[in-house]
Amino acid sequence: MLSGKTAVITGASTGIGACIAKKYASLGAQIAIIYIGSPEIAENVKNEITEKYGVRAEIYYCDVSDFDRCRETVKKITEDFGGFDILVNNAGITRDSLLVTMEETDFDSVINVNLKGCFNMIKVCGRNFLKRKYGKIINIASVSAMKGLAGQANYASSKAGIIALTKVTARELGSRNICCNAIAPGFIMTDMTKDLGKEDEYLSQIPLNRLGNPEDVAKVAAFLADEASDYVTGEVIRVDGGYAM
Ligand code: NAP
Repeated sequence: MLSGKTAVITGASTGIGACIAKKYASLGAQIAIIYIGSPEIAENVKNEITEKYGVRAEIYYCDVSDFDRCRETVKKITEDFGGFDILVNNAGITRDSLLVTMEETDFDSVINVNLKGCFNMIKVCGRNFLKRKYGKIINIASVSAMKGLAGQANYASSKAGIIALTKVTARELGSRNICCNAIAPGFIMTDMTKDLGKEDEYLSQIPLNRLGNPEDVAKVAAFLADEASDYVTGEVIRVDGGYAM
């Protein structure tokens, strides 16, 4: 149960992030929804959460690749909720292409959103967690980091960086009772994967013989936010049906 807890979730208005937000709310947590796209979509998630689960939810526009914006947003969240207990770094983008044809700007933007965004949020949330002597940080990585998937030099590198960042954070903050773990999803059906068109190719390599859904990831994210995982830190949990073992 997450009653009495507050969670900050980036990219929480769509896909995996929205599913984690609803899962946490169903377990009693208040939710700070960080979004960058449509305010209407973010507002819909907020309304669904408050109406269905009776917990407080607020929306915050923030580009996680912008450090100053992250700092201002987390300051506002801290004022609104009086602090928070859980941070989920879920925001992410893809700009796939083969290495030799990849635009430099596509490499930079993926690193900036996925990896630097994760660093920015951990850094600006650090003081809150240190003050509370408690925290659960959950970073959404990808099996692409482990497999080195073709066409994803930028994305796989950013996610491998997130795994390293997770371990450094776990090591540096562990003595203050702050846990940091990563989830590495496999092929999860969301907007990010809807145009990939490689479902059959992946399916033949997935021992559980099905593609994943956001709920598969949200259930593991719930475990990592709960006291059930209090002695788990610096871990990377694959949620991929066995794809990358
Ligand atoms: P998605 O629906 O496209 O979600 C990505 C989210 O990131 C969106 O909510 C988007 O916000 C947000 N976002 C993008 N750029 C941002 C920025 N600069 N600042 C703040 N937020 C930003 O795709 P998803 O599949 O749920 O992806 C969620 C996470 O899971 C990502 O980190 C992704 O890399 C990871 N993942 C997904 C899969 C998969 O198969 N789907 C596999 C492995 C890992 P808006 O909607 O407001 O634009």
